[in-house]
Amino acid sequence: MTGTNPTCPLCGDSRHRFAFSERGFDLVQCDACELFYIVPFPMAHDQYKTVANYDYDELAIVSPSRHYASSQHFCDEFLPVIRQHLVGARAVLDVGCGTGYLLERLGQLDPRLIRVGLELNASRAAYAQTKANCEIRQEPVESYQTATRFDAILLMNVLSHVPSFDALFNSLYSLLSDRGVVLLKVGEMTSRVKRSAVYDWAIPDHIHFLGMTTIQRICDKYGFRIVYHERRPVSKDIFSAYKFRSQGRSRLRNALKRSILAVPFALRLLARAYDAVHGKAFYSSFVAIGKQPSRPAMHGASPNS
Ligand SMILES: [Zn+2]
Repeated sequence: MTGTNPTCPLCGDSRHRFAFSERGFDLVQCDACELFYIVPFPMAHDQYKTVANYDYDELAIVSPSRHYASSQHFCDEFLPVIRQHLVGARAVLDVGCGTGYLLERLGQLDPRLIRVGLELNASRAAYAQTKANCEIRQEPVESYQTATRFDAILLMNVLSHVPSFDALFNSLYSLLSDRGVVLLKVGEMTSRVKRSAVYDWAIPDHIHFLGMTTIQRICDKYGFRIVYHERRPVSKDIFSAYKFRSQGRSRLRNALKRSILAVPFALRLLARAYDAVHGKAFYSSFVAIGKQPSRPAMHGASPNS
């Protein structure tokens, strides 16, 4: 258990419950807003320094070219839902754009679309520049300033890395056009979630995860409203063909993935077995949030205000 008395990085409440530990960090859940967060919680400066120089040694994916190849599977799976929210969009911002495949695809689909990518990791940002053929900046969204107002801002599996909710969501509000949407791909989980639900939580690279009501709390606090919310059982992600087609660093795991893909219905059976143990505790969600017609007072300091 925690020796200190942590406060929630979203709502500031200190009441919490212990979930589990990984790599010497506790994961706790806030009683008030249901956010899961790690203890000790990193300072903003430290977290982004880590990401900028991270060589992804601990993860299955090492080189930018391999990351690019595996993002293709991910994007092809999720492009239809992303495109639904891009109808009529003139400008799109991809926060944590990685090696740039999504921006590249969006540019092919609509050559007039203004596209900007933000990527903190130096080698991925450089790679994205060669692929996406648009502006890629190695800069946190919290300090990004521009006259452009974006009709869509994408955060695909990014939120769990972001240390300051105030700085992030105030910045997103400033960068978003009045009718625009912030589209998030995020995990959402209930208090019943078990550590064994995921092979590796990638803590402390991931520093928090949403509870089931947390996104509504975020909207209320920062002046947004939910315009689209799709929850899929996380087993659909874990045992999806797109994940199994992505080749990682371990040759053994790659071979295992290939052999599972070769067996008809294997993924479906694995997903069913997984759901029997972990079902209805952990979701992979797409959430689109837009601006409320009138916004509550600003919370925290915003670099764009
Ligand atoms: Zn909280």
